[in-house]
Amino acid sequence: MIHYKTPEEIEYIRKSSLLVSQTHATLVEFIKPGVKTSKLDEIAEQFIRDNDATPAFKGYRGFPYTLCISVNEQVVHGFPSGREIREGDVLSVDCGVCKDGFYGDSAFTFPIGEIPEEVRKLLKVTFNSLFLGIEMAVVGNRIGDISFAIQKYCEIDHHYGVVRDLIGHGIGRNLHEEPDVPNYGKRGKGPMLQEGLVIAIEPMINMGTHQVRHLSDKWTVVTKDGKPSAHFEHTVAVQKQKADILSDHNLIFEAIKKSEYIKDFR
Ligand code: MG
Ligand code: MG
Repeated sequence: MIHYKTPEEIEYIRKSSLLVSQTHATLVEFIKPGVKTSKLDEIAEQFIRDNDATPAFKGYRGFPYTLCISVNEQVVHGFPSGREIREGDVLSVDCGVCKDGFYGDSAFTFPIGEIPEEVRKLLKVTFNSLFLGIEMAVVGNRIGDISFAIQKYCEIDHHYGVVRDLIGHGIGRNLHEEPDVPNYGKRGKGPMLQEGLVIAIEPMINMGTHQVRHLSDKWTVVTKDGKPSAHFEHTVAVQKQKADILSDHNLIFEAIKKSEYIKDFR
C-alpha cells in the first residue's frame, strides 16, 4: 500500500532530508586523503544525534553503521572502516536520518583530488540522470517514466550499466515504503504518481556492466567487473508542475567550494 502524505507530513520529511544534506555538508571538510572512512561515520552519527535525530541505517536489518560508504568499485552499502581515503578515489556516501518520526534519505558521490576524466564523466552522468528522473516525478506520470528517463540517458546515451538489484523507494514514516522506484523500466508503466507521494530516487550507475555481487560481509555490493560506480539520491515529493526536492545537494556544493580536495564535477 502506498502512503500518500499530507503537506504537514511532507514538511517533516523535508526537515529530515535537509538534516541528511547538512550531514553530508559537514563531512566535506573531513573528506581528504589519509582520513579513515570510520572517522566520517563517527562525525556523521554525532552530528545527527546533536540535531535530535537518529541515524536511520544503524540497526536497519542489522546494518551496523550510520553511513554507507562505498569506494570506487563498491556500489552501495559499504561499511565505514579503517580504510584510508586516497587521492583518485570516488566515495559514495549514503545517509539517512529519522527525526520526529519521519525519514530522509540522500546520497552523494565525492571525487577525491584528481580523478580520471572518464570517472568524472561517470559522476556527472549519474548526477544528471537523477535530475532527469526527478523531472518526470510529476502528477499524472507513472513510476516507469522516472525509470525509463534514467535508464535511457545512462545506458543508451552513455553506455553505462544501470544496477538492477537495488532500487529507489517510497519514504515517510518508514525508511523504505512502497512503491519501488527502479532505475530501469518502461514508459507509462507502474503506479501513477499522485500528489502526496514521496519517493527516494537513487540511480546507481556502473561504468561497465550493470552486474554486481555481494561481498562476504553480506552488505557491500561491488561491480562484477571491478569498474567504478556512482550513486546520487534525493528524497522528493511529487507535485503537479515540478517535483519538490526535499534534500538539498546545494549545501554540499557550497561546502565543496571551500574544500582543497574535492572538486565540483559538474
Ligand atoms: Mg540512501
Ligand atoms: Mg534510499
